[in-house]
Amino acid sequence: MANRDFSPATRVVRRGAASGRQAVSADICVLGAGIAGVSAALEAAQLGHRVVLADSLPALGGQAVNSIIGTFCGLFANGYDGRQITHGIADGILRDLGAQGALHMLRGGPSNTKVVMYDEIALSRWIEEAVRTANVTVLLGAVMRGVTRDGGRVRAIEFATRYGDVSVSAAGFVDASGDAALTWEAGFECRENAEGPLFGTQMVVLEGVDEASHPARPEMLARLKVKGGDYGLVRRDGFSFVFPGRGISLINMTHVETPLEPIAASRHALIGKAMADDVIRFLKAEYPHAFANARVRAYGFPGIRQTRWIKGRQQLTVEDVRAGTRFPDAIARTGWPIELHDRPDGTVWEPFDDNHLHYVPFGSLVPDEADNVIAVGRCIDGDSAALSSVRVMGPCIAMGAAAAHALDLAGSGSVRQIDVTALRLRLYDNVDRVD
Ligand SMILES: Cc1cc2nc3c(=O)[nH]c(=O)nc-3n(C[C@H](O)[C@H](O)[C@H](O)COP(=O)(O)OP(=O)(O)OC[C@H]3O[C@@H](n4cnc5c(N)ncnc54)[C@H](O)[C@@H]3O)c2cc1C
Repeated sequence: MANRDFSPATRVVRRGAASGRQAVSADICVLGAGIAGVSAALEAAQLGHRVVLADSLPALGGQAVNSIIGTFCGLFANGYDGRQITHGIADGILRDLGAQGALHMLRGGPSNTKVVMYDEIALSRWIEEAVRTANVTVLLGAVMRGVTRDGGRVRAIEFATRYGDVSVSAAGFVDASGDAALTWEAGFECRENAEGPLFGTQMVVLEGVDEASHPARPEMLARLKVKGGDYGLVRRDGFSFVFPGRGISLINMTHVETPLEPIAASRHALIGKAMADDVIRFLKAEYPHAFANARVRAYGFPGIRQTRWIKGRQQLTVEDVRAGTRFPDAIARTGWPIELHDRPDGTVWEPFDDNHLHYVPFGSLVPDEADNVIAVGRCIDGDSAALSSVRVMGPCIAMGAAAAHALDLAGSGSVRQIDVTALRLRLYDNVDRVD
């Protein structure tokens, strides 16, 4: 066979004087491709809008995929046979991952509800294919560095990417950043916890676990309390969820600070990994039958629960959550407990009974001073306890759908003036459906 001719065809290039900034325009720009932003982007695309979905990570899926959160909570009504109460993209995820054997239903634990464990690789491919086939314009590895605004209207977001700068202008914006990054950058008011940190978690996935020997949760909790200190563990509760038939266990047993200051955030990310390693030492030494041969399959990116969130037109309060207040502008519902991670050593759980549901009002998604920005996911307005009960992924999916419909109804007008009855009718499946 003749040798191939490798004579190189090259050319010399140099950066030109022009900035090279690329301008993209869309109807709706979603900042943040976590579960809430993905839901918003897919719903908006289905409504016929040109959508840009941007994220600073080089991958879609936010924490659901990249921090390996691992279970969908708040998707079902309470009780261990509760009906599904959020639909939209949840239907496709449950159907398609279920068909692949990539889901496992968990019952039990402190929440009084069903929780769905998922394979994060299968979820990442589901999201990628859903976004690709919906013709959403995806902008990955794009860190927001500036916002142009005009009174209450955001006009454009400036992004830096490794391949150059991109400016995205749009009629409406969704702040799905988890940290209210868009609302903050636009100069609108935000909230932070005034009483010390709300802790995140370094998730870790172990493989090679002997499922048959895996301890029950009450036994593990008791052992954590008594022996955890011997391994340097500060948090003395948490979970090890086994995915049956795979020898895989998802470990959520650390409490890590997640500050918004960049050097401190990076330092705590490394501290979180070290904490996770201490947990593994504990598991291997205390439960050798289950964990002696276990290896780390993956460490998630830092798991961040609550940092900074919007100051909305309305704040969801813990009293509303406990009372199950049915707001006229409700856009999401869940039965998930109050789950507060405000202590280094443990978690405060306040579960609700089988008939309880609480609701998220549209007002808590709208930054007080904004006309065309809607926040979704873990950075909507609630007091810390209320937010802890609605930032799980079921209601995050519902909030994303609500943002898409609200921006659709607002058009070039203000989201403050939309017909909330019309919005609620469109969101029937996630708010009022009873089957
Ligand atoms: C450790 C842990 C365990 C949890 N366990 C569960 C559970 O078992 N089940 C459950 O349902 N929920 C759980 N939760 C809660 C739930 O996972 C999160 O609240 C939810 O995933 C948040 O989704 P989101 O879309 O709001 O935000 P995220 O998933 O955080 O997505 C935000 C995205 O915005 C991007 N972004 C942020 N700032 C910028 C910027 N400046 N420029 C560009 N992009 C930016 C980020 O890169 C990120 O991808 C857990 C949370 C944590 C931290």
